[in-house]
Amino acid sequence: MSIKPVVALIGRPNVGKSTLFNQFTKSRQALVADMSGLTRDRQYGDAEYEGKSFIVVDTGGIGEADDGSGNIDDYMSEQSHTAIHEADIIVFVTDARSGLIGADEEIGKFLHTLGKPVYLVANKIDGVHDAAPAEFYALGLGEPYPMAASHGRGLGNLLEDITADMPDQSPIEEPDGLKLAIIGRPNVGKSTLVNRLLGEERVVVYDMPGTTRDSIYIPYERDGKHYVLIDTAGVRRRGRINEKVEKFSVIKTLQAIEDSNVTVIVIDAQEGIVDQDLHMIGYALNKGRALVVAINKWDGLTQDQKDFIKIEMDRRFSFIPFVKIHLISALHGTGVGNLYPSIRRAYDSSMFNVSTSRLTQILQDAVTANPPPAVAGRRIKLRYAHIGGHNPPVIVIHGNQTGSLPKSYQRYLENQFRGVFKLEGTPLNVVFKLNE
Ligand code: GDP
Ligand code: GDP
Repeated sequence: MSIKPVVALIGRPNVGKSTLFNQFTKSRQALVADMSGLTRDRQYGDAEYEGKSFIVVDTGGIGEADDGSGNIDDYMSEQSHTAIHEADIIVFVTDARSGLIGADEEIGKFLHTLGKPVYLVANKIDGVHDAAPAEFYALGLGEPYPMAASHGRGLGNLLEDITADMPDQSPIEEPDGLKLAIIGRPNVGKSTLVNRLLGEERVVVYDMPGTTRDSIYIPYERDGKHYVLIDTAGVRRRGRINEKVEKFSVIKTLQAIEDSNVTVIVIDAQEGIVDQDLHMIGYALNKGRALVVAINKWDGLTQDQKDFIKIEMDRRFSFIPFVKIHLISALHGTGVGNLYPSIRRAYDSSMFNVSTSRLTQILQDAVTANPPPAVAGRRIKLRYAHIGGHNPPVIVIHGNQTGSLPKSYQRYLENQFRGVFKLEGTPLNVVFKLNE
C-alpha cells in the first residue's frame, strides 16, 4: 500500500498554475470536472515522472489584488489554505513577465512559515530576458526554476528534483499468470476439481522448467489467459507411485492462500459449512486475497439437504456479500465452467485501477448524497481519493478529522465504491489519510 505524496501548486492568479497542472497530469487523465461546491476551485490530478507517482493539486490562486497589501490569510481562500496545509511539497509559481511583485513576497513570507519543501518556479520565460528569473532569488526560496509551462520548457528539471526523494512506485505486478489456489478441508473434492479444471479440452498445461518434486505450481493456459494453479491437494504428486503424500497440510494451505491472487475455497455440501471453512475464508480475506466459494458435491443431495444448505449459506456467509458462491459437482463437472468468469472478475476487481480524478468524483458524489456527520460542530471533510494498492485494492481518502469518521460511514463509502466499480470477490481496503 502506498500513500502518494501531494504536490500543491500555489501562486497569484494568472501566473500559469493551471497550465503547469496540465503539464504535470498530461497524458494521465482529464481534469476533474465540476467538484460541486466545496472543491470547485481546486483540481486534483495524477502525475507521474520516471516511475514516481504523486498527486498534484492546483490551488486556484492566492491574492485578489496584485498590490500585495493586507494579510495573506485575508486573500487566500479557505480551499487554497487547506490544499497548502495538506501538501507534502509546494511548487510556488511566479510570473517572470510581470516580475517580482508584492503579492509574491507576501506568499513567499507565508511559505517560509510552513516548514515544507518549496520549489520556486519563474514561469513565462519565453520572450523575456534570460536574467529575468534571477530577481525571484530575493524571495529567499532558493534558485528559481526557469520555465515556460505553456511550452513544457523547464519541466523536466523541476519534476526530477521534486520526485528525487519520493519512493519508487512499485509497478503493478503482471505475474506469469493469475495465481489460483484451490483450498479446502480434506476430502471436500479439491483433487477432483483440480483434475476437472486442468482436464478441460480448452486447457493447455505446461511443464514448468525446473519443476521440483515438491512443486505444487501448475501453469496452464485457458482462452488465451495464463494461470498458475496452486495445487494444495497434491494431484500431481499423487501420480507418483510409492510416494506417500500428505494429503492435507495446513501450512501448505496458508502458503497457497498467501501466494495466490485468487483463492477458490471448496466446501463439501454433504458435510455442510463448518467452522474450519469459515476460518480459511477469514484467513484469505485477512490476507487481502480475492475469493470464490465452490460448494461441491451438489449432486446427490436431496431437496431437503439443498434447502438446508441454502439457509446455512445465507446465515454463515452474510459477512462476505461480495463473494460469489457456486454450487458445483466436481465429479460430474456441473457448474465448474462457471467458476472461471467469477475467478476473472475477482481478479480484475482485485487489480482495479482508476484515476485520482474519477475516484475523487465518486467520493464527492457519495459525500454530496450523504454527508459525513459533524464532530464537535465541525464537519468532517473528505477531499480526494486515490488508489494506494492492488490485490487487495486500497483506496486512500484524504480529509480532515477522518479519525472521527463512524464505522458505518466508512462502510457506506466502501459500498459506494464497490457499487460504482462493480468490485466482486475481493476485499477492499479503504484507508484515511489525515490532512488537517
Ligand atoms: P493560473 O491562473 O495561475 O492557473 O494561470 P493559467 O495557467 O490559467 O495561465 C494564465 C495565462 O498565462 C494563460 O493565458 C496561459 O496561456 C498563460 N501562460 C501560462 N504559462 C505560460 C508560459 O509559460 N508562457 C506564456 N507566454 N504564457 C503562459
Ligand atoms: P480432496 O481431499 O479435497 O482432494 O478430495 P478428493 O478430490 O480426493 O475427493 C474426495 C472424495 O469425494 C472422492 O471420493 C471423490 O470422488 C468425491 N467427490 C469429489 N467431488 C465430488 C462431487 O462433486 N460429488 C460427489 N458425489 N463426490 C465427489
